[in-house]
Amino acid sequence: MIGILGFVAVFGLGRWLGWAARWVWLLAWGWLLVLLLAHAPYMPPELGAFVGGEFRGWFVLGVLVAMALAYRKVLARVRKQVAPVVEAQKPGVFSPVELDRYARHIMLREIGGSGQKSLKTARVLVVGAGGLGSPALMYLAASGVGVIGVIDGDVVEGSNLQRQIIHADARIGMPKVFSAELAMKALNPFIDVRPYHRRMDAGLAAELVADYDLVLDGTDNFDTRYLVNRICAAAGKPLISAAITQWEGQISLYDPARGGPCFECVFPLRPAPGLVPSCAEAGVAAPLPGIIGAMMAMEAVKHLVDAGTGLRGRLMIHDALYAETRVIGVKRREGCAACGGLHG
Ligand SMILES: [Zn+2]
Repeated sequence: MIGILGFVAVFGLGRWLGWAARWVWLLAWGWLLVLLLAHAPYMPPELGAFVGGEFRGWFVLGVLVAMALAYRKVLARVRKQVAPVVEAQKPGVFSPVELDRYARHIMLREIGGSGQKSLKTARVLVVGAGGLGSPALMYLAASGVGVIGVIDGDVVEGSNLQRQIIHADARIGMPKVFSAELAMKALNPFIDVRPYHRRMDAGLAAELVADYDLVLDGTDNFDTRYLVNRICAAAGKPLISAAITQWEGQISLYDPARGGPCFECVFPLRPAPGLVPSCAEAGVAAPLPGIIGAMMAMEAVKHLVDAGTGLRGRLMIHDALYAETRVIGVKRREGCAACGGLHG
């Protein structure tokens, strides 16, 4: 009985007098030692009876308490290790490390702190993790776009690596979206990457697009291109769409909800199958998707921070073989099957 009262007294007094937890525990361990000594074999049995309990009981109690304290200490250490990461992921709040990372952006008048915050809270979906997707995804990640979705059903192949620089030789056979996620997170761990390892199809497109602010399309097939355009037009989401072949690339911002044409306004007739060769059939110069894909990311950043003049209503065509770039005006087309009925 005296033994238990001793502990009550130590913890009670400690709390009442506001002692540091360290001293309270030291006293408690001291008292436990006294109790164990009172039950030691060479001590008079009256002393053991006076403090109460028995040697084995007090010993087991000491071991259990020591284990509980050790467990708490390990838990606290683990929490301390993961704390900075959790702190960095608070929406719209920059850690000092992030401020340093984005310093060259923040000093730009057209971006600044508020623009960088717009990028952090933005959600961008990139359709295709191939030639155009590679630089687009890398620069979106480097720019600090908060949530980047990437959808692609393919796996990395050796023949991709001539131009799809987000992937690596060691990742041949890996789904492209997971390979891209690895590269993006290695470049910038402060962003959230959402990989969707599947082909963009009609059943999924509307739901997926609804979850994002802006869509970038760099796929190399017309079915996906027209589908993504129709879904974006219907949802009122801006679409940056680009295409490349051999030495030439083109890019525009299709945004019928804000007065611009949609992709189908500009290209109403889907080419007959086999008429327009793909990169696999016609070939493509390695740095060309780098140029056009980086332009996609550039236009995305401008759109998200509302800087400069974007490509809404303008189609940029780059001829890499002759180092020529021209921009032509493109207009809404009355009766467009994709956006005509929706916005006039
Ligand atoms: Zn249209």
